[in-house]
Amino acid sequence: MYDYLVVGAGPYGAVFAHEATKKGKKVLVVEKRDHIAGNIYTERVEGINVHKYGAHIFHTSDKEIWDYVNSFVEFNNYINAPVARYKDELYNLPFNMNTFSKMWNIKTPKEAKDIIEKQKQEITGEPQNLEEQAISLVGRDIYEKLIKGYTEKQWERDCTQIPAFIIKRLPVRFTFDNNYFRDRYQGIPVNGYTELVEKLLEGIEVRTGVDFLENREELRKLAKKVIYTGPIDAYFNYELGELAYRSIHFENEILDTDNFQGNAVVNYTEREVPYTRIIEHKHFEFGEQEKTVISKEYSREWKLGDEPYYPINDAKNNELYQQYKALADKEENIEFGGRLGEYKYYDMDKVIRSSLDFCKKELK
Ligand SMILES: Cc1cc2nc3c(=O)[nH]c(=O)nc-3n(C[C@H](O)[C@H](O)[C@H](O)COP(=O)(O)OP(=O)(O)OC[C@H]3O[C@@H](n4cnc5c(N)ncnc54)[C@H](O)[C@@H]3O)c2cc1C
Repeated sequence: MYDYLVVGAGPYGAVFAHEATKKGKKVLVVEKRDHIAGNIYTERVEGINVHKYGAHIFHTSDKEIWDYVNSFVEFNNYINAPVARYKDELYNLPFNMNTFSKMWNIKTPKEAKDIIEKQKQEITGEPQNLEEQAISLVGRDIYEKLIKGYTEKQWERDCTQIPAFIIKRLPVRFTFDNNYFRDRYQGIPVNGYTELVEKLLEGIEVRTGVDFLENREELRKLAKKVIYTGPIDAYFNYELGELAYRSIHFENEILDTDNFQGNAVVNYTEREVPYTRIIEHKHFEFGEQEKTVISKEYSREWKLGDEPYYPINDAKNNELYQQYKALADKEENIEFGGRLGEYKYYDMDKVIRSSLDFCKKELK
């Protein structure tokens, strides 16, 4: 008899399995995919660690979590500094003095501030949609070139049809600083994320290719308690309806060139280009291989059967989640956790923190 059956070998499940095993518990992990590591899985192609379910950059200000992940694997010193391509123009992101000097051929923060302030005046009343909201925050030039097309591709709608509240703030920096994240610690595991999860699961029985929901009767008998990190609505056979997600479609290509775009992340901000971004994976790890692997990202509306990526935490879906949570609270000998179990967007550091906090309560 196992003490715990962990459903899902993503970071939440793997951290729990690791900590429980450390406390002398007997743990079995089942994972429906044919590999471990959940959405942070990286696969080696042409010697390059390819982020299979979307680009993942580890960033945190939580020193305990940074020390925790570094105790398993080594991280490199990658800093995320995306580039935006609008037609034939290239701009640094996030919006900063490099962006502004390129856009307006100016040199000082004062000049940039004056231009933005002047352009913001175009919107006088309460912004009625995302377009007006964005212009009221950063002015028309930045909106037209760097926000409009990208956002319209993400939402598959015109910005004038998207509610204003979606964008609350648009941070602008009046320094020459391209570092996307403000966190104290940042990097990518030197050998990819899969190794991090392998290390967490070292010495623990893991069965891949096993869907808990299809074998729940037999599997539940194997353990005293279940830690479930799959979708909460799927656990209840969608009896109250489906929780909605936003999905992404990736098109991967191996190219016969050593350097395709010179940066890991390039956002395509004009609407006419159908993809939102191209990721060139080798640049996450300063790769010098002869070939390169790129992923074009297309934003897709989600339907049942697609990979669920981003939860849509609007009022309707949050309410539905609360109803599922009430059902989950009544279930015995099972806990729901992680991004799918809690229907919540978690960055990696946050999901590890959440799993460790749960361990503290559960593994006394
Ligand atoms: C496109 C994208 C980009 C991201 N980029 C970043 C980033 O740059 N930085 C960052 O910090 N975070 C990023 N994240 C967030 C990161 O992916 C999550 O924090 C992390 O994956 C959450 O871990 P988890 O264990 O909760 O879920 P998951 O990683 O999804 O793991 C859950 C596992 O459970 C398995 N499972 C589900 N149902 C069953 C079942 N019935 N039976 C058996 N197994 C099952 C799944 O197959 C999966 O392997 C990104 C997320 C997305 C979608």
